[in-house]
Amino acid sequence: MHVGDFLSKQRDRELGMGRKITRRDFLNGVAVTAGAAVMPWDLFGNSEGASEEAREKSAGYYPPALTGLRGSHPGSFDVAHSLRDGTFWDSAGKPEDTGETFDLIVVGGGISGLAAAHFYRKAAGERARILILDNHDDFGGHAKRNEFRVGNAFRLGFGGTFSIESPAPYSAVAKGVIEELGIDVPAYSKYVNRNLYRGLDMRPKCFFDKETFGADKLLSNPMARAGGESDDVATPTALRLKEFLDEAPLADRAKLDLPRLFAESRDFFPGLSSDEKKGRLARISYANYLRDMVGVHADIIKMFQAMPHPLYGLGIDAVSAQDAWGFDFPGFAGLRLDPAPGKGMNRDSIPNEEAAKYFFHFPDGNASIARLLVRKLIPAAIPGSSWSDVVLAKANYAKLDESGSAVRIRLNSTAVRVKHVGEMTNAKEVEVAYARGNKVYIARAKNAVLACWHVVIPYICDDLPDKQKQALASAQKVPLLYTNVALRDWTSFHKLGANAVYAPGCYHTAFNLDLPVSLGGYECARKPEEPIVIHMMKTPCRPGLPARQQHTAGRIELYNTTFETIERKIRDQLARTLGGGGFDPVRDIAAITVNRWPHGYAYEYNSLFDSFWLEGGETPCEVARKPFGRIAIANADAGAYAYTDEAINQAWRAVGEIAKS
Ligand SMILES: Cc1cc2nc3c(=O)[nH]c(=O)nc-3n(C[C@H](O)[C@H](O)[C@H](O)COP(=O)(O)OP(=O)(O)OC[C@H]3O[C@@H](n4cnc5c(N)ncnc54)[C@H](O)[C@@H]3O)c2cc1C
Repeated sequence: MHVGDFLSKQRDRELGMGRKITRRDFLNGVAVTAGAAVMPWDLFGNSEGASEEAREKSAGYYPPALTGLRGSHPGSFDVAHSLRDGTFWDSAGKPEDTGETFDLIVVGGGISGLAAAHFYRKAAGERARILILDNHDDFGGHAKRNEFRVGNAFRLGFGGTFSIESPAPYSAVAKGVIEELGIDVPAYSKYVNRNLYRGLDMRPKCFFDKETFGADKLLSNPMARAGGESDDVATPTALRLKEFLDEAPLADRAKLDLPRLFAESRDFFPGLSSDEKKGRLARISYANYLRDMVGVHADIIKMFQAMPHPLYGLGIDAVSAQDAWGFDFPGFAGLRLDPAPGKGMNRDSIPNEEAAKYFFHFPDGNASIARLLVRKLIPAAIPGSSWSDVVLAKANYAKLDESGSAVRIRLNSTAVRVKHVGEMTNAKEVEVAYARGNKVYIARAKNAVLACWHVVIPYICDDLPDKQKQALASAQKVPLLYTNVALRDWTSFHKLGANAVYAPGCYHTAFNLDLPVSLGGYECARKPEEPIVIHMMKTPCRPGLPARQQHTAGRIELYNTTFETIERKIRDQLARTLGGGGFDPVRDIAAITVNRWPHGYAYEYNSLFDSFWLEGGETPCEVARKPFGRIAIANADAGAYAYTDEAINQAWRAVGEIAKS
């Protein structure tokens, strides 16, 4: 054996790559036994040859408990990709007419699609017949629930949409839905234990890796706003900064530059008004501002690079200096800018106190919102009666698509063609073809709401005007990995005094212990000896390219990375970061769920790359969401705003439009 092979096999053993963790082998999309492609629903123990329907109705069909590659899981996107490649209809066969007719067909079972069904039903009455199609094996879209059992402990994680939060206040419509579902947002402080980690002297840390910075080092994080989803920002004090600088593997000049940057009082644009300065900042990246205006050492730029990842899926090379100022990143004090938002600021970077107060995190994130909406639409599918008991309610997937039910959710079903029956101008119906299993089916409805990802729509709705198709195609979603790792305990975090780690050079650039929320009978981990879920985040980018190109490259990377590769990266990163606290990946990792979202956040406009956002004019999302006869268009993409409130707002608008058609 080659020495390199020997060493990498040895390292794999130390990392526990051979350890049995739940169903890892299957969820690569390849069955280890037969070498045949395996769909997630093949894992539910059904007999060979069973129909899609029989599989989904079997008692074992329970997607939230699956581990391995989730999010856009194997089997969920092949149909859409073959449509994109123009090959789908070559082998699709003649669609089979189900003979089913509905009042409304919704494409996309995320929060926007579920909210559209909810609004339609409120307007048309409870007997309105609605079919919701989604290509995934679970409903909720990005609002995804991950479940784990570690010993006797039951642990929840969020596989996508993390919380009720938005940079701007929720609209009356979106707030109305949250209130109708009964969610007590103002009572959040009753459920979250804000002092758990602080009380154990645990704080956000920064990990320098040897590949990027020359040495592996875990240090207290002196920078605010770089703690992932930890809800606990670091407070940069002079003492912490000194301790940090003493130990950090940074060049000597960078060590002088960092305190200077925090205290910067120079005005780099003397003679310009506040608005003119903001205009300049809107047109340069924060990385270039730091390098060219403030003149900091390259190590500082490397260290700051991943700070905007959680919101933009991009590093500071592709985030404007004006947005960085909005986030209170350092280096702007000397400019004395007035606090009003400047033209072209990203909505995420505009601080809003009222919005900041409206925050609620369920242990499974906004999957609880999706589940509460499903309970309203199909009560038998989600047992229980209160907003909080939904946290532990076990969904009955067999009830989602029942013939006697007015609302039906059909999973594992990709819409492949949506068109009016006859001429659009006088059509009375819309026909939707969808692929399910190896067949294509047709159902009809008076109207359709496309609440799916906008980039898909040009491929399924051929009759749309070209200008609208182009606008839809420009909504290049932001690719992300939301990885949940179930650990047998978190004593290593405790020993190191870390609850969150920012790791600018690592595969996952941030990870943190679960937010300690206990609710509806669900109990979070309280003692370091108890099992816990840690949440890790990666946004694959290509620094230097324009935003959309970075997202496209990142998306391709995510589709082409196997679970095994990601697992090795996770084990290696955790071992190196937490090894000093006694972390042993072989012993401590109980399960891994990688929520892969090649099509993640809705693309939000960026003053560096979208001139209309800075200079004014029609935005692509306004063109993209125009109604087309009996077909209306929803999804968070329709507002170019990656938040749940927008998914709901756009559903409301879309349903209003079909009411007029
Ligand atoms: C990792 C991640 C974290 C997030 N965190 C937050 C957060 O903390 N707070 C927040 O407010 N927002 C967050 N968001 C934004 C989130 O996308 C929205 O809040 C909201 O959940 C979007 O809902 P949606 O229905 O518009 O889209 P989606 O949830 O994406 O649902 C659309 C559905 O349509 C399906 N679909 C696509 N094409 C077809 C087809 N041809 N046929 C059938 N189905 C199809 C998709 O697969 C998907 O299931 C996050 C997003 C991601 C990806």
